[in-house]
Amino acid sequence: MKIDLKGLDVQEIEAWASSQGLETYRGRQIREWAYSKLAVSFHDMTNLPRDLRILLEKRASLSPTESVKIQVSRDGTRKYLFKLKDGHFIESVLIPERDHFTICISTQVGCAMGCRFCLTGRHGLKRNLTPGEITDQVIQVKRSMDEPDQLTNVVLMGMGEPLANYDAVITALGNLLSEEGMKFSHKKVTLSTCGLVPQIKRLGGRIRVNLAVSLNAADDKTRSILMPVNRKFPLKHLISACKAFPLPNRRMITFEYILIEGINDRDEDAIRLVRLLAGIRAKVNLIPLNPFPGLDMSPPPMEKINHFRSILIDNHFTAIIRKSKGHDISAACGQLSEELE
Ligand code: SAH
Ligand code: SF4
Repeated sequence: MKIDLKGLDVQEIEAWASSQGLETYRGRQIREWAYSKLAVSFHDMTNLPRDLRILLEKRASLSPTESVKIQVSRDGTRKYLFKLKDGHFIESVLIPERDHFTICISTQVGCAMGCRFCLTGRHGLKRNLTPGEITDQVIQVKRSMDEPDQLTNVVLMGMGEPLANYDAVITALGNLLSEEGMKFSHKKVTLSTCGLVPQIKRLGGRIRVNLAVSLNAADDKTRSILMPVNRKFPLKHLISACKAFPLPNRRMITFEYILIEGINDRDEDAIRLVRLLAGIRAKVNLIPLNPFPGLDMSPPPMEKINHFRSILIDNHFTAIIRKSKGHDISAACGQLSEELE
């Protein structure tokens, strides 16, 4: 079995190279090719002797994903479909912003969390992604860009629950953030979770990234209906884990709140949300529900969404309405699924 080099952390790549009898500088060259020069095959590594490239190709693999389709939305959002070695498919989304690009990556094939409003969760969890499969999405997408340096932001908000694949996600984040890896700024990498409380606590002590929490309701009854995970980790525990999450100066936790007509969009829901988040450095992203076939819920009308936001603003919260992009190619939040391909 070949070793997947992107599944190792950046230091381990060099250690692996020396275990193969290579000199230290060769290990460094391989690492630079993999992360700075975005190589997906050893044949790309033109400053390595040909014999060495052939040997490496036999012993190791550099890219566990294969880009099979790119769809471009009218708004410029691009959805990438990747095939994994075992035949599963995952998706990543590249989102153009005013002066940079954000990539939204997947961490699992499917998801076990079963949130009612989410297409990814409909068919359960197929499997966790390996660290290499997580990192390679960023490398493959960056390679395909005209101006790769414009890719500055990464969000772990694609398919899957990142904290349910904790170890692989930590290795992948390390490689994205490290100076020897892809050098992303920790200010520009955001992990989104449905609220796995023990892992939120572990994450805080382990690595510096932005935290986003999919909240979607400010009372346990509604949240447990929408998100079964709330039965195990109710709001009280979730909120206290958020309060304890180490935040650098002036940074905030993002709370995502999908607005669903008649379920969580009343004035009293907004007021409950204000009370729940009191004392947390929080900003709220309001996301109008993206409907999909078979979903028995709909987004509220725009006036209602604006009104909900105004209650948060009046109570001194930062609240934005995040219209997700890429609707026409099913690349919007909660629309990613291997089943539709
Ligand atoms: N599992 C993680 C990250 C992936 S889901 C999490 O739940 O946070 C990414 C985001 O998409 C979450 O904020 C989720 O609430 C949102 N989402 C899921 N289904 C959606 C839908 N139908 N409409 C709008 N947003 C949705
Ligand atoms: Fe999983 Fe997140 Fe979808 Fe919930 S919203 S089912 S946690 S991917």
